[in-house]
Amino acid sequence: MASPEQERWTRAKGRLHAEMGDDIYSSWFARMDLDRIDAGTVYLTVPTRFLKSWIQSHYSDRVLACWKAEDDQVQKIDVAVRSAVLRSTLPKAKPAEPSDQVRLPRLDIGDGRASLGPVASSHDALGGSPLDLRLTFDNFIVGRSNTLAHAAAKQVAVARRGDPVMFNPLYVHAGVGLGKTHLLQAITWAGNNGADRKVLYLTAEKFMYGFVSALRTQTALAFKEALRGIDVLVIDDLQFLQGKSTQAEFCHTLNALIDAGRQVVIAADRPPTDLESLDDRVRSRLAGGLVVEMGQLGEELRLEILKFRVAAARQYHPTFDVPAPILAYIAKSVTHNGRDLEGAVNRLLAHNKLTGQPVTMEMAEREVRDLIRPQEPKRVKIEDIQRIVARQYNVSRADLLSSRRTANVVRPRQVAMYLAKTLTLRSLPEIGRRFGGRDHTTVLHAVRKIENLVGSDTMLADEIEVLKRQLQE
Ligand code: ADP
Ligand code: MG
Repeated sequence: MASPEQERWTRAKGRLHAEMGDDIYSSWFARMDLDRIDAGTVYLTVPTRFLKSWIQSHYSDRVLACWKAEDDQVQKIDVAVRSAVLRSTLPKAKPAEPSDQVRLPRLDIGDGRASLGPVASSHDALGGSPLDLRLTFDNFIVGRSNTLAHAAAKQVAVARRGDPVMFNPLYVHAGVGLGKTHLLQAITWAGNNGADRKVLYLTAEKFMYGFVSALRTQTALAFKEALRGIDVLVIDDLQFLQGKSTQAEFCHTLNALIDAGRQVVIAADRPPTDLESLDDRVRSRLAGGLVVEMGQLGEELRLEILKFRVAAARQYHPTFDVPAPILAYIAKSVTHNGRDLEGAVNRLLAHNKLTGQPVTMEMAEREVRDLIRPQEPKRVKIEDIQRIVARQYNVSRADLLSSRRTANVVRPRQVAMYLAKTLTLRSLPEIGRRFGGRDHTTVLHAVRKIENLVGSDTMLADEIEVLKRQLQE
C-alpha cells in the first residue's frame, strides 16, 4: 500500500507531468523520488548532481507549486542526490594525479586559440580529428528532442579545471544526422575557449588509428600519457571502436581519466548496453554516468534549423531568400535528419545562384524530392520489448530474465526473444546475454518456436501484432 505521502507525491508528479508535457517531464522528473516530508519541507531525490542543480535552478518553483496544490502545508522543497548512486557513478577527483607531471607540451590545445592552427596541430599530435568551425553552440538549435543533451553538453563545456565533475562519462546517443557530432564539437570549441582546459575531440577511428600507429612507432607509452594529460576527452562514434587491444586501451584510458576527475564525453549511435563488441566492464562504466538519447528532430526544430541555415547563407548571399511557406514545406517533408536539411538548403542556394531564379515552391519540390524518404522505423530497444511483453503477460521483467521454467513465464520469454530478433539488429548471442545470460541456441529455439506457432495459433499471432505495434509506435 502506498502511504498517504506517496499518494500525494504521485498526484503532484501527475500535475508536473501535465504542466510540462512528456518530454520535459521525462527528461527531468521521471527519476525524481520522494524521500520524506518533514516540517513543511518535502525532501526529494534524483540520481545525479546534474539533475539536482538543473531542477533547482529551473524548476524548483514549479515543483513547489505542484506540491502546494496537493498539500498546502508544504513550504519548501529540497532536492538531494541519491547517495548510493552518487558513490558508484561519480568517483572522487584525485587532486595530485601523476599524469599531471607527464603532460606533453605538444598537447597544449588550450593555447593560441586566436587561430585554428595550434588547435589543429595539437589535435594532429594525437591523431585528433578535424573540427568544423560551424559546429558550435551558437549554431545548435535546441528543441524538444535534444534539450537534455544540450543542457548536459553546455554544463560540461562551461566547467573549469578543478570543478567537481557532475556526471562522467556524459554519453549521448542518437541515430544518424541528429546532432551528435555537432554537440561534441561544440563542447570542444567552447571548452578550449575557456583557456585553462584541454579538450580533445577524437573519433573512435582516430583513437584506434592513433593507438595502432603509436604502437608501430613504439611510442605507445607517450601516447597513453598524452591522452591522460587532457581535461576533457571527447570521443565520437564509439560504435566503431574495434579490436581487443584498442578496447583494452580505451578501457584503461577511460578509467584513468574518470578516476582522475577528468571529464569524458562520448557519442554513439546506440545506448551503452547495445555496444555489443565492448566488454561488460566498459559497458557498465559507460552506463554509469549520464546517458542521454537525442530523438528524431521534430517539425518545429527542423523549421528552426532551416531558418537558421538560410540566415547563415544570406550573410554571404544577401539576395538568397526562401519564403516562409517553402521553409514550412521542407520542414514538413524532409523529416529524416539534419544532414538532409542542410542538403536541401544547399540545393536551393545552388539553384538560385546558378540560374538567378528566385526560390519557388515548384523549384523546392523538385530539388528536395529525393530527400523525402519514408519514415525510418523507430529504433526498438530490448528493454522496451521486455517491459512491454512483461506488462502484456502480467509477469515481471525479472521473471523474463530469470531461469524459471514455468509455462506462464516460458511463453512470454520466448515471445520477447522472438520480438528482439525480429525488431532489432541484435545478434542471437547478444539477445541471449540480455535475457539473463542465456545461450544463443536457446534464443534460436525460442525464435523458431514462435515462428512455427504464429502460423497455426491466430490468437498468438494477433497478440504479437499488437505488441509489435506498441513497440513501433
Ligand atoms: P550525427 O553526428 O548525429 O550523425 P551531425 O551532428 O553530424 O549528426 O548533424 C548533421 C547535420 O545536422 C549537421 O549539419 C548539424 O549541424 C545539423 N544539426 C543536427 N542537429 C542540429 C541542431 N539541433 N541545430 C542545428 N543543426 C543541427
Ligand atoms: Mg556524427
